[in-house]
Amino acid sequence: MNESSDLQHLGPAARTLQSPAVAPLFGQVTFVGIGLINGSLARDVRRLGLAGRLVATTPRQETLDEACALGLVDDATPDAAAAVRDADLVVLGVPVGASGEAARAIAPGLRPDAIVTDVGSTKAKVSELVAPYLNMRRFVPGHPVAGTESSGPAAAIERLFDGRWCILTPSPDTDPQAVEAVAALWRGVGSKVEMMEAAHHDKVLAITSHLPHLLAFNIVNTADDLEGVLKGEILKYAAGGFTDFTRIAASNPTMWRDVFLHNKTAVLEVVGRYIEDLMALQRAIRWDEADTLLHRFESARTVRREVIRAGQAYKRRPLVDMQTE
Ligand code: NAP
Repeated sequence: MNESSDLQHLGPAARTLQSPAVAPLFGQVTFVGIGLINGSLARDVRRLGLAGRLVATTPRQETLDEACALGLVDDATPDAAAAVRDADLVVLGVPVGASGEAARAIAPGLRPDAIVTDVGSTKAKVSELVAPYLNMRRFVPGHPVAGTESSGPAAAIERLFDGRWCILTPSPDTDPQAVEAVAALWRGVGSKVEMMEAAHHDKVLAITSHLPHLLAFNIVNTADDLEGVLKGEILKYAAGGFTDFTRIAASNPTMWRDVFLHNKTAVLEVVGRYIEDLMALQRAIRWDEADTLLHRFESARTVRREVIRAGQAYKRRPLVDMQTE
């Protein structure tokens, strides 16, 4: 990065946080967007010594000030092209709907050999949005399947990705060396890396993540719209299952608006299936079909056991139990 640019040098405070455990994978990593996901990644990249220098850029100066004050990065600037000028790796960590705009802003500063990746929750649309601005051979789409309902730099936590999946969705044209470099980054922070086609990713996440969030948003609003005494008792008896939905429904509204608008086909497909199944349950309740209810609930319980066996339920690990994504 140009020394004369408006960088904020954090100084020795940040460096004392560094404890390189392995040889750095990258010289400079630039984070475009520095909220929960990129901030958490920055924390681990620094803690594990996976990069020599960390830089952040977002349009809002307050966010950059906060990221620097928290020691997430060494330097920060709202000038996106200047922020990526010396970057070996650029990580887009913005709401998926802002991916194109972010790619357009960094494009003039990118080195030809720089690798660009992203952490967006939908994959096919992100590639479409960034394609006009980036060398797609060096763009490796990614999605760490980990998160919390909090947002912003202050929400960034260490070890968020430890033991969690990170899905990469390179196309057949993506440079294998770029894919391996991004996979090494995620393995470096403890993730298990899986390769998938973007369209397949979007279908899988529509049912495992996007639909549950839609249900949570809707249940909480349905409860909130109830009138009179019933509404007053929601807070009092919230522990009966409702609290879990309120936690998920507290997730970042902008991020989730973009997820639904950018995974429309897959989400509408699973919403349709869900409504059919819900109506079957409604009918079973109305007509006292006890066996149908029992059968459906027993099969759901079996799924829960399989999820635990697959190591994807984190009941005893409060940090990752907050996962929303
Ligand atoms: P976040 O905490 O709200 O952070 C978003 C960041 O993007 C902020 O720093 C914001 O800057 C910045 N930003 C917004 N528009 C921008 C633009 N046009 N150019 C540059 N920066 C911009 O969000 P997050 O939870 O980290 O989510 C980031 C991405 O990760 C999303 O694509 C999301 O789908 C994905 N993801 C989220 C989770 C999760 O559980 N939250 C899990 C996996 C993946 P300002 O603060 O200045 O606005």
